[in-house]
Amino acid sequence: MSDKIPYKIYLSENELPTSWYNVRADMKNKPAPLLNPGTGKPCTAEELSHVFCDELVKQELNDTDAYIPIPKEIREFYKMYRPAPLVRAYCLEKKLGTPAKIYYKFEGNNTSGSHKLNSAIAQAYYAKAQGLKGVTTETGAGQWGTALSMACSYFDLDCQVYMVKVSYEQKPFRREVIRTYGAKITPSPSDTTEVGRKILAEFPGTGGSLGCAISEAVEAATKQEGYRYVLGSVLNQVLLHQTVIGLETMTAMDKYGIKPDVIIGCAGGGSNLGGLISPFMGRKLRGEADYEFIAVEPASCPSLTRGSYVYDFCDTGHVCPLAKMYTLGSEFMPSPNHAGGLRYHGMSSILSQLYDDKLIEARSVEQTSVFAAAQEFARVEGILPAPESSHAIRVAIDEALKCKETGEEKTILFGLTGTGYFDMYAYKAFNDGTMSDYIPTDAEIAASLAKTPKI
Ligand SMILES: *Cc1c(COP(=O)(O)O)cnc(C)c1O
Repeated sequence: MSDKIPYKIYLSENELPTSWYNVRADMKNKPAPLLNPGTGKPCTAEELSHVFCDELVKQELNDTDAYIPIPKEIREFYKMYRPAPLVRAYCLEKKLGTPAKIYYKFEGNNTSGSHKLNSAIAQAYYAKAQGLKGVTTETGAGQWGTALSMACSYFDLDCQVYMVKVSYEQKPFRREVIRTYGAKITPSPSDTTEVGRKILAEFPGTGGSLGCAISEAVEAATKQEGYRYVLGSVLNQVLLHQTVIGLETMTAMDKYGIKPDVIIGCAGGGSNLGGLISPFMGRKLRGEADYEFIAVEPASCPSLTRGSYVYDFCDTGHVCPLAKMYTLGSEFMPSPNHAGGLRYHGMSSILSQLYDDKLIEARSVEQTSVFAAAQEFARVEGILPAPESSHAIRVAIDEALKCKETGEEKTILFGLTGTGYFDMYAYKAFNDGTMSDYIPTDAEIAASLAKTPKI
């Protein structure tokens, strides 16, 4: 049977999902609500609508509808770069000499180079439908800024991106892609916002962080008429949009009678992993099937494996609502790690709850072992993976090697979230042998966690 599975399983356009799947509808323990930091009470739709688009607020707060229809305009855009291929990694299996069957869902087939476009286009659509002038956001590694600038140019919306200063300086080409799509880009922290000026005064010369850039982008949105803030990960709405990944994968696998035993994804804010596993998790929650789910995070920013499950600020400037999540504390400053997209201090509330309910497991991996896996993968499968995605590759290879020892013929599925063409400094450090593995001490994490709000 396995010989008959093609290298790439593509779906046809009319097999694309017509609704997103909302896993919260099937969760017994719902993710905890966002809290207003002023009142300590759950944020109302009205409060959130000052920051986010109205329709996205509804999606954020919707814990009951399992399926949310994808508007036709978004489906039309998806058709330009989806369905994404599901690839059987025959060459990697052979190289590893494993009896395991390895599949990956490849999301790097668009200019942004990652899965981020799946949510960017949805968020831009709802902003346009509401008659807004534009949106503001932050970007760390740059993939989200690129995706959003593409989506905004498609819908003719103004786009203002606050880019973490170190990335802005280290990734000039990302910056130019973003500018090519017409977005305005500001290195963060900047002196263009109150919160940016405050952070600069407190930490002069800082290279910035996602938490800082979020604060600036939120302030910029609330101070301009006709603007809202959009975010590329962490939020429930983003996980929802990313379920196109899992829905397509499930349709493709069902078509060929393939059942994954282990499903693996890298976890920064949790959107690609949440999107990939949601439909499978739905089956598990409804008692229809069982799977093992593994979230992979960098050892330098280990929110699930070493953080606490508490209410925390989502940003450094404390302008956002509080979210209950596995967190390292909003002031946690991850060491310079090359997987910029995985450097956020917290984790999606949905994944945090699933992890707390022991429905998913988590592993942390060190940077050099991640790049070793990336190199091994690139040399046989051809694709040059993003550093973030390579965290999932690491654990997929580890699982496949375990099967080699035990002789088990497990089916392993992982999310290959993007390509690494803009991360060549990272590859250079690995190739030169100058890459290091920084792991925060317990004392550092405890100090940062001590500053989480007392709820
Ligand atoms: C942003 C990003 C991630 C991490 O974000 P999640 O929200 O955890 O998915 C992973 N891979 C790539 C390529 C990214 O751009």
